[in-house]
Amino acid sequence: MTFIAERKTYDAIVVGSGITGGYAAKELTEKGLETLVLEAGRPTSPEQDYVEHVQPWELRFRGLRNRGRQSRDQPIQKNCYACDEWSSKFFVNDHENPYTFDEDEPFHWIRGRHVGGRSIMWARQTYRWSDLDFEANAKDGVGVDWPIRYEEIAPWYDYVETFVGISGQAENLAQLPDGKFLPAMELNCAERHVRDSLKGKFADARMLTIGRCAVLTEEHNGRAPCHYCGPCRRGCITRSYFSSLNATLPVARATGRLTLRPYSVVHSVIYDEGSDRATGIRVIDAETHESFEVYGRVIFLCASAMESARILLNSKTARFSEGLANSSGELGRNLMDHVMGGGAEGTLPGHEDETDNGRRPNGLYVPRFRNVKSRTPGFLRGYGFQGSGFRERWQNGLEAPGFGADFKHALRSYGPWKLRFYGFGECLPSRGRYIEIDPELKDKWGVPALRVHMTWGENERALLRDAAKTAAEMLEASGATEIETFVEDNAPGLTIHEMGTARMGRDPKTSVLNAHNQSHDVPNLFVTDGACMTSSSCVNPSITYMALTARACDYAVKQMDLGHL
Ligand SMILES: Cc1cc2nc3c(=O)[nH]c(=O)nc-3n(C[C@H](O)[C@H](O)[C@H](O)COP(=O)(O)OP(=O)(O)OC[C@H]3O[C@@H](n4cnc5c(N)ncnc54)[C@H](O)[C@@H]3O)c2cc1C
Ligand code: SF4
Repeated sequence: MTFIAERKTYDAIVVGSGITGGYAAKELTEKGLETLVLEAGRPTSPEQDYVEHVQPWELRFRGLRNRGRQSRDQPIQKNCYACDEWSSKFFVNDHENPYTFDEDEPFHWIRGRHVGGRSIMWARQTYRWSDLDFEANAKDGVGVDWPIRYEEIAPWYDYVETFVGISGQAENLAQLPDGKFLPAMELNCAERHVRDSLKGKFADARMLTIGRCAVLTEEHNGRAPCHYCGPCRRGCITRSYFSSLNATLPVARATGRLTLRPYSVVHSVIYDEGSDRATGIRVIDAETHESFEVYGRVIFLCASAMESARILLNSKTARFSEGLANSSGELGRNLMDHVMGGGAEGTLPGHEDETDNGRRPNGLYVPRFRNVKSRTPGFLRGYGFQGSGFRERWQNGLEAPGFGADFKHALRSYGPWKLRFYGFGECLPSRGRYIEIDPELKDKWGVPALRVHMTWGENERALLRDAAKTAAEMLEASGATEIETFVEDNAPGLTIHEMGTARMGRDPKTSVLNAHNQSHDVPNLFVTDGACMTSSSCVNPSITYMALTARACDYAVKQMDLGHL
């Protein structure tokens, strides 16, 4: 491939415009840097792309999905609940973006390739990590130690939450620190019933609170509060939930220092051995397939955990024959995702004169209680539960009994209150779970594709089994009947929290990045997406990626001002 050189040198180049790329663009432009954002996918705009208010009867398949097209073009993406008839356009074409895995090691890599990345479809659950997480590797002797502790990231959580807008309830829990919360959304009567029933019943202090989420409950930074229409994964024209498109990119654009280039597939990073610096990026235009180079003083990789590692693995040089910034040999290693799907559902007595109002875009949360205050035998780390209380009704309409008037009546009547706990557990870092460049396969633009090696270990499976048991115990303690437990067998990747492929650490011999997301090997190269994670915690990770991104931008600009970069 021949790459044509572009003359201009930017202060900063950011790869990717999703949750972390959008945040980096905001921070770097606000701090005065002329910033180029390279985004592989198409441009998007709220006015043209958001479809949250499109009704099922306006769709060809009435919301039941175009199953033929999905089986053909999105055989992996269709496994994601959010890739429905409305939102499938926000998910990649699996044939254009291929990767491989061994038959007995399926990995479901769920991706978006467009301006905004997965920030458009994410479920917006946002929980801080605590020192229970940052100290876990060192205490358990698993992986390597995090190079930071909670007190170092806490001000950056404050900083990003103040911009993003997080609704939530302060609970004063050591394992799940409170944030800068907007007013919390309300629990419904079934959830309040279970919350009250749990109080004082369990020695491990199980409790239930409302989910903490990046959805506004009041006007915030010029964005309107949520009007509870429900299907956020299709966009939000009132910009009430946080996404790059709704929040960070407009701020970056307003500085006048942002150049956002869609259709820019990054092939690799250019490294200059003489100066020991990354000097730019090799790019392929997604529409014309022309190749060109762009130059910058600092490079931020924010293309998502596996894509950023792929870019570095594809950036081989004489010094870095196994991939740029990979003197440790850890690049691509320690791939993690949360294990999900252990839990239980039950029917709750009473409250039949109550219903809920609107479609709350949020659920309940049960913070981790295993291995918190005392050691739980059988596994390391823990899990938290998401879920909700709900009344069976219209959603199950097609299965309602009766015919004609009876059927219509059945559609309009409510079933009993139910409540479902759905567990998300921590995944341990391990060198044996990794990505590498497939020796043959290339994507539509000729960029070498990934081969993924990941299966769940016994610790992750034990967490799910335990989650089913403890969920049932909590339902029982709340007087629920017809309790059904479940332990799902989801492929890794499907939780869509993949991380760890360029981990942070104290020692350059065993980690790729230092405490500031800066490459140990190449000082002006930063990776601030999920690739940087040293362990996985059990909570949703994106707010931590954002806090680390903002912190890394601050550090990089200070280093530039000092003349070190
Ligand atoms: C349905 C769903 C629900 C989720 N729910 C939650 C949740 O509740 N809480 C939570 O914390 N997380 C959630 N997530 C995960 C969350 O979306 C990701 O953690 C987050 O988006 C990661 O941010 P990122 O910037 O690393 O990657 P992304 O947001 O995926 O953005 C990466 C961007 O980089 C671009 N890119 C990739 N490769 C290249 C290349 N070679 N050249 C140029 N550009 C490139 C992509 O096109 C994309 O725009 C969810 C995800 C999905 C899909
Ligand atoms: S439920 Fe709220 S956040 Fe979600 S799309 Fe509707 S208005 Fe936006």
